[in-house]
Amino acid sequence: MSDDELKSPTSGWDIHCHTRFSDGTESPATLVSQGKALGLHGVGIADHDTWNGWPEAEAAAKEQRFPLIRGTEITSSVDHTSVHVLGFLYDPANEGLAAMFRRTREAREDRVREMVERISRDYPQITWEAVQRQIGEGNQTTVGRPHIADALVAAGICSDREEAFSTVVSSRSKYYVPVPSPTPAEVTQTVKKAGGAVVVAHVGDRSRNKRLLPDERLEELIDAGLDGIEVYHRGNLPDQRERLLGIARRHHLVVTGGSDWHGKGKPNPLGENLTSDEMVRRLAEGCYLPILRP
Ligand code: AMP
Ligand code: FE
Ligand code: FE
Ligand code: ZN
Repeated sequence: MSDDELKSPTSGWDIHCHTRFSDGTESPATLVSQGKALGLHGVGIADHDTWNGWPEAEAAAKEQRFPLIRGTEITSSVDHTSVHVLGFLYDPANEGLAAMFRRTREAREDRVREMVERISRDYPQITWEAVQRQIGEGNQTTVGRPHIADALVAAGICSDREEAFSTVVSSRSKYYVPVPSPTPAEVTQTVKKAGGAVVVAHVGDRSRNKRLLPDERLEELIDAGLDGIEVYHRGNLPDQRERLLGIARRHHLVVTGGSDWHGKGKPNPLGENLTSDEMVRRLAEGCYLPILRP
Protein backbone atom coordinates (compact mmCIF):
# COMPACT_ATOMS: atom_id res chain seq x y z
CA MET A 1 0.00 0.00 0.00
CA SER A 2 1.42 3.41 -0.93
CA ASP A 3 1.63 6.32 1.53
CA ASP A 4 -0.86 8.24 -0.63
CA GLU A 5 -3.53 5.58 -0.18
CA LEU A 6 -3.26 6.07 3.58
CA LYS A 7 -4.16 9.76 3.20
CA SER A 8 -7.60 11.31 2.88
CA PRO A 9 -8.77 12.42 -0.59
CA THR A 10 -8.02 16.12 -1.03
CA SER A 11 -11.50 16.93 -2.35
CA GLY A 12 -14.91 15.51 -1.54
CA TRP A 13 -17.37 15.33 1.33
CA ASP A 14 -16.99 15.64 5.10
CA ILE A 15 -19.67 13.21 6.26
CA HIS A 16 -18.92 13.02 10.01
CA CYS A 17 -19.97 16.29 11.67
CA HIS A 18 -21.62 17.16 14.99
CA THR A 19 -23.86 20.12 15.85
CA ARG A 20 -25.65 21.57 18.87
CA PHE A 21 -28.09 18.65 18.61
CA SER A 22 -25.37 16.59 20.33
CA ASP A 23 -21.94 17.71 21.51
CA GLY A 24 -21.02 20.11 18.71
CA THR A 25 -21.08 23.82 19.49
CA GLU A 26 -22.49 25.12 16.17
CA SER A 27 -25.89 24.95 14.46
CA PRO A 28 -26.65 22.74 11.43
CA ALA A 29 -26.92 25.96 9.36
CA THR A 30 -23.35 26.87 10.33
CA LEU A 31 -22.18 23.39 9.33
CA VAL A 32 -23.71 23.94 5.88
CA SER A 33 -22.35 27.48 5.43
CA GLN A 34 -18.84 26.53 6.58
CA GLY A 35 -18.82 23.44 4.34
CA LYS A 36 -19.86 25.58 1.39
CA ALA A 37 -17.28 28.29 2.19
CA LEU A 38 -14.54 25.62 2.27
CA GLY A 39 -15.53 24.37 -1.19
CA LEU A 40 -16.47 20.89 0.02
CA HIS A 41 -18.71 18.82 -2.28
CA GLY A 42 -21.17 18.32 0.56
CA VAL A 43 -21.44 17.70 4.30
CA GLY A 44 -22.97 14.99 6.46
CA ILE A 45 -24.66 15.74 9.77
CA ALA A 46 -23.99 12.88 12.24
CA ASP A 47 -25.06 13.87 15.74
CA HIS A 48 -24.92 11.22 18.46
CA ASP A 49 -28.02 8.98 18.75
CA THR A 50 -30.49 11.36 17.12
CA TRP A 51 -31.76 12.82 13.85
CA ASN A 52 -33.17 15.89 15.64
CA GLY A 53 -30.83 18.21 13.73
CA TRP A 54 -31.96 17.00 10.30
CA PRO A 55 -34.86 19.43 9.68
CA GLU A 56 -32.64 22.46 10.38
CA ALA A 57 -29.85 20.99 8.25
CA GLU A 58 -32.28 20.27 5.38
CA ALA A 59 -33.67 23.82 5.48
CA ALA A 60 -30.14 25.27 5.47
CA ALA A 61 -29.03 22.99 2.61
CA LYS A 62 -32.02 24.10 0.51
CA GLU A 63 -31.57 27.76 1.33
CA GLN A 64 -27.84 27.72 0.66
CA ARG A 65 -28.12 25.21 -2.23
CA PHE A 66 -25.53 22.88 -0.78
CA PRO A 67 -25.54 19.05 -0.80
CA LEU A 68 -26.35 17.26 2.46
CA ILE A 69 -26.18 13.70 3.74
CA ARG A 70 -28.43 12.95 6.69
CA GLY A 71 -26.86 10.63 9.26
CA THR A 72 -26.35 9.75 12.90
CA GLU A 73 -23.41 8.48 14.95
CA ILE A 74 -24.81 5.65 17.04
CA THR A 75 -23.36 4.59 20.41
CA SER A 76 -22.57 0.89 20.85
CA SER A 77 -20.21 -1.38 22.73
CA VAL A 78 -19.05 -4.96 22.81
CA ASP A 79 -16.58 -6.70 25.18
CA HIS A 80 -16.06 -3.36 27.00
CA THR A 81 -14.91 -1.78 23.73
CA SER A 82 -16.78 1.37 22.71
CA VAL A 83 -17.77 1.33 19.03
CA HIS A 84 -19.33 4.27 17.16
CA VAL A 85 -21.49 3.33 14.18
CA LEU A 86 -22.44 5.88 11.52
CA GLY A 87 -25.91 5.29 10.04
CA PHE A 88 -26.82 7.28 6.92
CA LEU A 89 -29.92 7.98 4.81
CA TYR A 90 -32.24 5.68 6.76
CA ASP A 91 -35.99 6.10 7.28
CA PRO A 92 -36.29 8.37 10.34
CA ALA A 93 -39.83 7.06 10.95
CA ASN A 94 -38.57 3.50 11.43
CA GLU A 95 -39.85 2.21 14.79
CA GLY A 96 -36.93 -0.10 15.57
CA LEU A 97 -34.44 2.68 15.14
CA ALA A 98 -36.60 5.16 17.07
CA ALA A 99 -36.78 2.70 19.97
CA MET A 100 -33.01 2.23 19.93
CA PHE A 101 -32.37 5.99 20.00
CA ARG A 102 -34.94 6.38 22.79
CA ARG A 103 -33.24 3.72 24.93
CA THR A 104 -29.75 5.10 24.40
CA ARG A 105 -30.79 8.70 25.00
CA GLU A 106 -32.53 7.73 28.25
CA ALA A 107 -29.50 5.68 29.29
CA ARG A 108 -27.26 8.65 28.46
CA GLU A 109 -29.31 11.01 30.62
CA ASP A 110 -29.33 8.58 33.58
CA ARG A 111 -25.61 8.14 33.16
CA VAL A 112 -24.83 11.87 32.98
CA ARG A 113 -26.99 12.41 36.09
CA GLU A 114 -25.07 9.64 37.89
CA MET A 115 -21.69 11.10 36.88
CA VAL A 116 -22.84 14.57 38.00
CA GLU A 117 -23.95 13.09 41.33
CA ARG A 118 -20.48 11.60 41.84
CA ILE A 119 -18.64 14.72 40.68
CA SER A 120 -20.77 17.04 42.85
CA ARG A 121 -19.49 15.31 46.00
CA ASP A 122 -16.09 16.87 45.25
CA TYR A 123 -17.22 19.86 43.16
CA PRO A 124 -20.60 21.05 44.54
CA GLN A 125 -20.98 23.61 41.70
CA ILE A 126 -21.41 20.77 39.19
CA THR A 127 -25.13 20.15 39.42
CA TRP A 128 -27.55 18.77 36.83
CA GLU A 129 -28.81 22.36 36.35
CA ALA A 130 -25.26 23.60 35.68
CA VAL A 131 -24.84 20.86 33.04
CA GLN A 132 -28.23 21.64 31.49
CA ARG A 133 -27.12 25.24 30.95
CA GLN A 134 -24.47 23.87 28.56
CA ILE A 135 -26.95 21.97 26.40
CA GLY A 136 -27.56 23.67 23.04
CA GLU A 137 -31.08 22.62 22.08
CA GLY A 138 -32.78 21.55 25.34
CA ASN A 139 -34.32 18.07 25.27
CA GLN A 140 -33.65 17.87 21.52
CA THR A 141 -29.92 17.55 22.31
CA THR A 142 -28.25 14.20 23.04
CA VAL A 143 -26.38 14.71 26.32
CA GLY A 144 -22.91 13.41 27.04
CA ARG A 145 -19.67 13.94 28.88
CA PRO A 146 -18.81 17.00 26.73
CA HIS A 147 -21.68 18.89 28.41
CA ILE A 148 -20.29 18.00 31.85
CA ALA A 149 -16.91 19.15 30.57
CA ASP A 150 -18.43 22.48 29.50
CA ALA A 151 -19.97 22.90 32.98
CA LEU A 152 -16.52 22.26 34.52
CA VAL A 153 -15.07 24.95 32.24
CA ALA A 154 -17.90 27.39 33.06
CA ALA A 155 -17.21 26.83 36.78
CA GLY A 156 -13.51 27.50 36.27
CA ILE A 157 -12.51 23.98 37.36
CA CYS A 158 -11.03 23.05 33.97
CA SER A 159 -9.60 25.31 31.30
CA ASP A 160 -11.19 23.54 28.32
CA ARG A 161 -12.96 20.34 27.21
CA GLU A 162 -9.58 18.74 26.53
CA GLU A 163 -8.44 19.20 30.14
CA ALA A 164 -11.79 17.92 31.45
CA PHE A 165 -11.44 14.80 29.31
CA SER A 166 -7.97 14.09 30.62
CA THR A 167 -9.12 14.54 34.26
CA VAL A 168 -12.66 14.65 35.71
CA VAL A 169 -14.67 13.14 32.83
CA SER A 170 -11.96 10.76 31.58
CA SER A 171 -13.05 7.14 31.20
CA ARG A 172 -10.34 6.35 33.78
CA SER A 173 -11.72 8.81 36.32
CA LYS A 174 -13.45 7.65 39.52
CA TYR A 175 -16.53 9.57 38.42
CA TYR A 176 -16.86 7.71 35.12
CA VAL A 177 -20.00 5.70 34.35
CA PRO A 178 -20.34 3.84 31.03
CA VAL A 179 -23.46 4.18 28.84
CA PRO A 180 -25.40 0.90 28.58
CA SER A 181 -25.47 0.42 24.79
CA PRO A 182 -26.52 -2.07 22.12
CA THR A 183 -23.81 -4.07 20.35
CA PRO A 184 -22.48 -2.80 17.01
CA ALA A 185 -24.01 -5.88 15.32
CA GLU A 186 -27.43 -4.96 16.72
CA VAL A 187 -26.99 -1.37 15.57
CA THR A 188 -25.94 -2.52 12.11
CA GLN A 189 -28.99 -4.77 11.73
CA THR A 190 -31.32 -2.05 12.99
CA VAL A 191 -30.01 0.59 10.56
CA LYS A 192 -30.12 -1.88 7.65
CA LYS A 193 -33.75 -2.70 8.46
CA ALA A 194 -34.48 1.03 8.39
CA GLY A 195 -33.05 1.24 4.87
CA GLY A 196 -29.79 3.01 5.76
CA ALA A 197 -26.09 2.61 5.06
CA VAL A 198 -23.77 1.60 7.92
CA VAL A 199 -20.16 2.68 8.42
CA VAL A 200 -18.03 1.89 11.45
CA ALA A 201 -16.39 5.13 12.73
CA HIS A 202 -12.76 5.64 13.87
CA VAL A 203 -12.49 1.95 14.78
CA GLY A 204 -8.66 2.02 14.76
CA ASP A 205 -8.40 4.85 17.29
CA ARG A 206 -6.19 3.55 20.13
CA SER A 207 -6.87 6.60 22.32
CA ARG A 208 -10.54 5.58 22.76
CA ASN A 209 -10.20 1.99 23.93
CA LYS A 210 -7.80 -0.23 25.83
CA ARG A 211 -8.48 -2.92 23.20
CA LEU A 212 -9.33 -2.28 19.57
CA LEU A 213 -12.14 -4.21 17.92
CA PRO A 214 -10.44 -7.31 16.42
CA ASP A 215 -10.84 -8.43 12.78
CA GLU A 216 -13.25 -11.24 13.76
CA ARG A 217 -15.62 -8.70 15.32
CA LEU A 218 -15.41 -6.49 12.23
CA GLU A 219 -16.19 -9.53 10.09
CA GLU A 220 -19.31 -10.17 12.21
CA LEU A 221 -20.41 -6.63 11.40
CA ILE A 222 -19.77 -7.25 7.71
CA ASP A 223 -21.99 -10.36 7.98
CA ALA A 224 -24.65 -8.18 9.66
CA GLY A 225 -24.62 -5.81 6.66
CA LEU A 226 -21.85 -3.27 7.30
CA ASP A 227 -21.39 -1.11 4.18
CA GLY A 228 -18.21 0.79 4.95
CA ILE A 229 -15.27 1.66 7.18
CA GLU A 230 -14.23 5.18 8.17
CA VAL A 231 -10.52 4.94 7.38
CA TYR A 232 -9.67 8.66 7.14
CA HIS A 233 -10.12 10.00 10.67
CA ARG A 234 -7.47 11.70 12.79
CA GLY A 235 -7.69 8.93 15.40
CA ASN A 236 -6.73 6.18 12.92
CA LEU A 237 -2.93 6.21 12.65
CA PRO A 238 -1.16 4.85 9.50
CA ASP A 239 -0.82 1.25 10.75
CA GLN A 240 -4.54 1.09 11.49
CA ARG A 241 -5.45 2.78 8.20
CA GLU A 242 -3.48 0.07 6.44
CA ARG A 243 -5.26 -2.69 8.38
CA LEU A 244 -8.71 -1.16 7.79
CA LEU A 245 -8.08 -0.49 4.08
CA GLY A 246 -7.02 -4.14 3.72
CA ILE A 247 -10.28 -5.34 5.28
CA ALA A 248 -12.32 -2.89 3.18
CA ARG A 249 -10.69 -4.13 -0.02
CA ARG A 250 -11.10 -7.81 0.80
CA HIS A 251 -14.79 -7.30 1.43
CA HIS A 252 -15.43 -4.64 -1.24
CA LEU A 253 -16.58 -2.11 1.39
CA VAL A 254 -17.00 1.63 1.01
CA VAL A 255 -14.06 3.65 2.43
CA THR A 256 -14.99 6.96 4.06
CA GLY A 257 -13.31 9.92 5.75
CA GLY A 258 -14.65 12.52 8.15
CA SER A 259 -13.32 15.24 10.41
CA ASP A 260 -15.55 14.47 13.43
CA TRP A 261 -16.04 18.24 13.55
CA HIS A 262 -17.54 19.50 16.84
CA GLY A 263 -17.20 23.26 16.17
CA LYS A 264 -15.30 24.77 19.10
CA GLY A 265 -15.75 21.54 21.07
CA LYS A 266 -12.76 19.81 19.45
CA PRO A 267 -9.67 20.95 17.56
CA ASN A 268 -10.62 18.94 14.41
CA PRO A 269 -11.23 21.47 11.60
CA LEU A 270 -14.14 20.90 9.21
CA GLY A 271 -12.96 19.15 6.05
CA GLU A 272 -9.74 17.75 7.57
CA ASN A 273 -10.69 14.26 6.33
CA LEU A 274 -12.92 13.60 3.33
CA THR A 275 -14.91 10.97 1.46
CA SER A 276 -14.60 10.85 -2.35
CA ASP A 277 -17.55 11.45 -4.71
CA GLU A 278 -17.37 7.82 -5.86
CA MET A 279 -17.54 6.46 -2.31
CA VAL A 280 -20.43 8.82 -1.48
CA ARG A 281 -22.28 7.53 -4.55
CA ARG A 282 -21.74 3.91 -3.47
CA LEU A 283 -22.78 4.69 0.10
CA ALA A 284 -26.10 6.22 -0.98
CA GLU A 285 -26.93 3.41 -3.42
CA GLY A 286 -30.12 1.64 -2.42
CA CYS A 287 -30.74 3.80 0.67
CA TYR A 288 -34.22 4.81 1.81
CA LEU A 289 -33.39 8.55 1.63
CA PRO A 290 -31.57 10.29 -1.21
CA ILE A 291 -28.66 12.67 -0.76
CA LEU A 292 -30.16 16.18 -0.78
CA ARG A 293 -28.76 18.00 -3.80
CA PRO A 294 -30.70 21.27 -3.87
P1 AMP B 1 -19.88 10.20 25.84
O1 AMP B 1 -20.48 9.70 24.54
O2 AMP B 1 -20.88 10.93 26.66
O3 AMP B 1 -19.15 9.14 26.61
O4 AMP B 1 -18.79 11.29 25.46
C1 AMP B 1 -17.87 11.01 24.44
C2 AMP B 1 -17.83 12.20 23.49
O5 AMP B 1 -16.92 13.13 23.99
C3 AMP B 1 -17.35 11.84 22.10
O6 AMP B 1 -18.42 11.95 21.21
C4 AMP B 1 -16.34 12.88 21.73
O7 AMP B 1 -16.80 13.69 20.71
C5 AMP B 1 -16.17 13.73 22.96
N1 AMP B 1 -14.75 13.76 23.38
C6 AMP B 1 -13.99 12.70 23.70
N2 AMP B 1 -12.75 13.10 24.06
C7 AMP B 1 -12.74 14.47 23.93
C8 AMP B 1 -11.75 15.48 24.14
N3 AMP B 1 -10.53 15.17 24.56
N4 AMP B 1 -12.10 16.76 23.91
C9 AMP B 1 -13.35 17.07 23.51
N5 AMP B 1 -14.32 16.15 23.28
C10 AMP B 1 -14.03 14.87 23.50
FE1 FE C 1 -18.94 13.69 20.06
FE1 FE D 1 -17.34 9.02 17.52
ZN1 ZN E 1 -18.21 11.76 15.99
